[in-house]
Amino acid sequence: MSATDTFRQAGRPEPRWAHTHDLYVDGAWTRSSAAARLPLVDPATGCEWGSVPDCSADDVDVALAAADRAFRTGPWPESTPSERAALLRRIADEVEARATEMASTNTLENGSPIGETRGAAANAAGILRHVAGLAPWLEDEDVRPFPAGGAESVVRKDPVGPCVLIAPWNFPINLMVVKLAPALLAGCTVVMKPAPGTSLSIRFVAEACEAAGLPPGVVNLVTGGADVGDRLVRHPSTAKVAFTGSTPVGRRIAAACGELLRPVTLELGGKSSAIVLPDADLDQLSSALIRTCLRNTGQTCYISTRILAPSERYDEVVDMVTRTVAAAPQGDPFDERTVFGPMASRAQYDVVRDYLDSAHREGARATTGGRVADTGGQGFFVEPTVFADVTPDMRIAREEIFGPVLSVLRYDDVDEAVALANDTSFGLGGVVFSTDPVAAQAVAERMDTGSVGVNFFGSNHNAPFGGRHDSGLGVEYGIEGLSQYVTHKSIHRRTH
Ligand code: NAD
Repeated sequence: MSATDTFRQAGRPEPRWAHTHDLYVDGAWTRSSAAARLPLVDPATGCEWGSVPDCSADDVDVALAAADRAFRTGPWPESTPSERAALLRRIADEVEARATEMASTNTLENGSPIGETRGAAANAAGILRHVAGLAPWLEDEDVRPFPAGGAESVVRKDPVGPCVLIAPWNFPINLMVVKLAPALLAGCTVVMKPAPGTSLSIRFVAEACEAAGLPPGVVNLVTGGADVGDRLVRHPSTAKVAFTGSTPVGRRIAAACGELLRPVTLELGGKSSAIVLPDADLDQLSSALIRTCLRNTGQTCYISTRILAPSERYDEVVDMVTRTVAAAPQGDPFDERTVFGPMASRAQYDVVRDYLDSAHREGARATTGGRVADTGGQGFFVEPTVFADVTPDMRIAREEIFGPVLSVLRYDDVDEAVALANDTSFGLGGVVFSTDPVAAQAVAERMDTGSVGVNFFGSNHNAPFGGRHDSGLGVEYGIEGLSQYVTHKSIHRRTH
């Protein structure tokens, strides 16, 4: 059976690429020197459908040499921010031109529902255009007088250098582009390393950069896992690392960058809370619930998977949450109606199963779901699950699960709710549900976290997004995100 027949039989769109052997280096697609391969597995069926190279040390060296050369001798860092912004806008157009293929490849790679991945290209293009609009911030002449007079300092924002961009598999396109866009606008060159399972989604991003006419070596792409990532992080040509992924890997990268005195931004895991205030409108909670607390089948870093309900309305909240989750369809991620797809991989399916087991052992009560779905070994589906009677000491209340599992905890007064929300090693997201904007704002201000929503959660290209504590270091989005790719230099001069 041909590859086309295989995809037709499985009801899947045929991807542009399946088995690839090349990396994008110095403006050309060149064959990897590695023999090792990384499989691509459709998580909805469990079938392997493609593979990419597990790049060699030589491949990494060649990619970073290209990025280094383009930074030191190429036209890119010498061009003006406005010129670079024009290129970013062209990349945005090229990304959008690939929207349909990007979406279906992304869904085939990680099982994200097509309704989610269809927006990925538009979102990436939106980030690129928004960041392009920040060029004046780089161009503004910043001259500051000496307080004692007689001299002034010109404060320059120089590009930091060749950057290594490492992304996870849950929102592969968005989480790469949110690094790529500010790095490029600042005048940096980059080597991108996607998560192994979502490598082909990022191939479209590299292709869009090529089609937009970026000079050779400005954007490079290698594929691989932890070893490739580690080599990139420690490579002598790397000037900065931008990483999104798990907290344990983030710690390892931070340790390496600390040793090397290398700037690093880390967007890591989370365990965020939705505080339902006593006056909350539960219909509003229901309509926001999936996106705020279970987006992408629970595989989203900032979602509020701990729902804190006031004791006097606990049963009502549990009932509403249970009905909402139970009513959302689970199934083939290519089906337009699907809300919950599979876990992105066998490994993630095993992780979530382990958490479900721990919840049952520790005495939580499943009000819907509670088990991995029985698919006869085909596909990595977990039943969308709500646990009631969850106490703060349970593992499901404390650790990031990264699956479709909600815990509902009870509180007696608002101080206790805030204390419960803050009783975590993470600090990434959060949401407050209330009909009183003043009360909601007051609670949001007391939550020890990088971002909080009131009655909804969203990421704003204009506002910094980042985690506190075990959720990371530094921010992405906004001027603050762009500023992570510049290094300041003050040139002092006499004024008389
Ligand atoms: P992961 O940490 O296992 O992998 C992330 C990336 O790092 C992958 O590309 C991987 O190949 C690479 N990597 C692994 N070991 C490495 C090493 N030693 N050195 C360099 N690179 C290495 O994470 P994951 O399982 O892909 O993603 C899920 C995690 O990402 C969750 O914890 C989630 O909360 C987090 N996440 C955070 C955000 C955020 O913005 N804070 C967004 C999305 C996901």
